[in-house]
Amino acid sequence: MTPASPGPFDLSPLMFYYEVTQACDLVCQHCRASAQEAAAPDELSPRQSLALIDEVARFPSPPTIVLTGGDPLKRADLFDLIAHARGLGLRVAVTPSATPLADRGALERLKAAGVMALGISLDGATAATHDSFRGWEGSYARTFEMLGHARDLGLPVQVNTSITARNVGEIAALAEQLDQWGVMMWSVFFLVPVGRGVDQPRLSADECEAVFAQLWEETQRRSFAIKTTEAPHYRRYVLQQGGDPQAGRGASGRRVPLGVRDGKGIMFVSQRGEIYPAGFLPLECGRFPEVSPVETYQTHPTFVALRDAEQLKGRCGACGYREVCGGSRARAYAVYGDPLEEEPDCAYVPVGEEALVAH
Ligand code: SF4
Repeated sequence: MTPASPGPFDLSPLMFYYEVTQACDLVCQHCRASAQEAAAPDELSPRQSLALIDEVARFPSPPTIVLTGGDPLKRADLFDLIAHARGLGLRVAVTPSATPLADRGALERLKAAGVMALGISLDGATAATHDSFRGWEGSYARTFEMLGHARDLGLPVQVNTSITARNVGEIAALAEQLDQWGVMMWSVFFLVPVGRGVDQPRLSADECEAVFAQLWEETQRRSFAIKTTEAPHYRRYVLQQGGDPQAGRGASGRRVPLGVRDGKGIMFVSQRGEIYPAGFLPLECGRFPEVSPVETYQTHPTFVALRDAEQLKGRCGACGYREVCGGSRARAYAVYGDPLEEEPDCAYVPVGEEALVAH
């Protein structure tokens, strides 16, 4: 009998998120990390962080490493970490917070260090909406300063937006702004009730569907690509419209791979070295440096189960889109306590379906 060949993302994630610190000067209402002003005393040391980056380079198909936080600019050795990752041939992205630390000089240094993209958060089309999210009056203005510097420096930007009841009416205005600033990608995040996000009201399944319709409409006329975070059912929506969820739009031409979800193409290591299938899925699968992230990703039962669409339950288990979507495993865990349960915020009701689309 021929052994089954590994599926996509069975051996290597596409994106490896390393939370270099939880220190941050912002107090965002939906913060996954519940970030603090000062660094935790037990965050990985500079030497341990370099060793973690060595591990990332060991994956058979090394992923993009995203240095996130907290605010990565609060980490004193950030540029050493970037240089080390680049020296190993890794693609590096950084998600600086919109604070006075993220000035033009900092972005110039990031560019010079070889950072290939920035992730910048924008959570409202007006200062009032964004700043109330971010807990700092002036964050909105700083965000646009950062977008301007990045554009001037030729640094590609992915803008990350958390969509909640507070800003759901601002989607068209946000898309218009992003078009003007020449961003590469818009990643629209759907709330998972973890961290400070526990106190934020989520959109209902029908409201999510209405947002999908708006995003699909914007995709037709914008120069940037749009993807969702913790809402893989947007891929199902796009397929139902006859669209191609992998198709990049406009100048970026980027393609968003199908089937990527928590633990399948995604991996997260916390400031303390705790290994998770995603930043929003607090199911610890070991701790670096005691265990290897490579072996954990490939063989830990939680990661293996999350990649197996046949183990999904409820509507997701019966759904023809389970391979290409599979629902947010983080939201299933947050709501039901079981990462294999059905996606709570999907309006689709499958009836007698076989797998509709192969991954
Ligand atoms: S039922 Fe689950 S797998 Fe199907 S589209 Fe909804 S979230 Fe995706």
